[in-house]
Amino acid sequence: MKSQTKSRNVTIVGAQWGDEGKGKIVDLLGEKAEYIVRFQGGNNAGHTLVVNGKKTVLHLIPSGILHPGKICLIANGVVFDPNVFFQEIDSLNASGAFHGYAPHEIVRVSERAHVILPYHRTLDQLREDHASKGSQGKIGTTGRGIGPAYEDKVARRGIQVVDLLRPEVLRQKLEKAIEEKNILLKHLFHSKELEFAPLYEECLKVGERLRPFVADVRGILQGALTQGRPILFEGAQGTLLDVDHGTYPFVTSSSTVSGGAMTGSGMGPQAMGSVIGITKAYCTRVGSGPFPSEIEETEPETANHIRKIGQEFGATTGRSRRVGWLDLVALRYAVQLNGITGLALTKADILTGFECIKVCTAYRFGGNTLQDFPSSIEVLSQVEPHYEVFPSWPEFDTSKVQTRKDLPEELQKYLDFIEEFVGARVSILSTGPGREETMVFENPFVG
Ligand code: GDP
Repeated sequence: MKSQTKSRNVTIVGAQWGDEGKGKIVDLLGEKAEYIVRFQGGNNAGHTLVVNGKKTVLHLIPSGILHPGKICLIANGVVFDPNVFFQEIDSLNASGAFHGYAPHEIVRVSERAHVILPYHRTLDQLREDHASKGSQGKIGTTGRGIGPAYEDKVARRGIQVVDLLRPEVLRQKLEKAIEEKNILLKHLFHSKELEFAPLYEECLKVGERLRPFVADVRGILQGALTQGRPILFEGAQGTLLDVDHGTYPFVTSSSTVSGGAMTGSGMGPQAMGSVIGITKAYCTRVGSGPFPSEIEETEPETANHIRKIGQEFGATTGRSRRVGWLDLVALRYAVQLNGITGLALTKADILTGFECIKVCTAYRFGGNTLQDFPSSIEVLSQVEPHYEVFPSWPEFDTSKVQTRKDLPEELQKYLDFIEEFVGARVSILSTGPGREETMVFENPFVG
């Protein structure tokens, strides 16, 4: 298989259902970037970084923030909760993460990003409660208002960051929004109605505090692109949660694939650069929806063991994640959808010492073998996984690994098989949460 091409820019996406360890890889590769950009989702993301043994969890601010002086951008495709933003700014400031820079010098928010307002959170929670009583059941959202904020964006009634700075425009938009939300709250959810005045005052206050951070993020990125400055696009959630290509309707509300990095930041496709897909050595899924290689029922002891040592509990909600074997049918789909040029395989340490490990290489459905990820979730919910079985690898010292040949033979074979099957190189291998527990075989950045 060819080495991956190096590029000035890198786009990082989750290649599974999220929680693949993107935060760690963004932090690691962020060293070579000058600009780090969140382009979709909101504070439903939860990226955990461990630097010098210290843990930081970020929901909204790009994971490059722990490197001094990097410009961290929240672009147009993000839905933006100002309260969460200020909490993160304050806590990063208190821990010295800005290294002497004023926060607004290095963190900027797009004028065009849509704002998550308190009524979005209320509606999110009410909808989930309502859905749990119906036949479809819950989506399993984080209840942070992300979905309702995207709905308003697409319905052309959203409030954008720039509106918070223009009192008259804000008044008109908020009045209209509240009128409509109150109909829903009163008649559909039988819940308390909203009052205009306190919310309007709150939005004006937020706007004033936000003013120094607000910028034409697309313009900043265009300048960076023209000058050849390295940019890293940081995806949140994962490919199989993409609103178009994921397991709809059990998906997130945004475009999580690499194409979303361009629409979500206002860049042309040439800005995308290398695409790194992050995958764990096994699979997890949080929330509802089909999960073909899930082993909660078939191998509950193994599932519990992986969950426990892999600490598979959500960084955003604390929910326990469903566990399964690595699904190569799904991973190949992700490689194709994103144009992945290199994979970062994380949590290889969790599978050490197992008697054997499995990977799913096909689905069986109605007497047929499916090689490709089906579009229908009804089909996907009923498929039976077909597994190949591999021996596990022994523990090894990551710091002694210079090249792939230094890895335990069993792990080399496992990586070779994955690469051959999905058609992408494993260019990064991670064996622990810390920055130092990573082997970068091919850095996707030039230089
Ligand atoms: P993200 O949303 O994709 O950034 O993923 P999360 O932060 O939710 O989950 C990744 C978790 O696994 C974090 O707690 C990381 O510190 C941790 N982690 C990342 N890579 C590895 C690894 O290779 N081994 C182990 N044991 N933990 C890892």
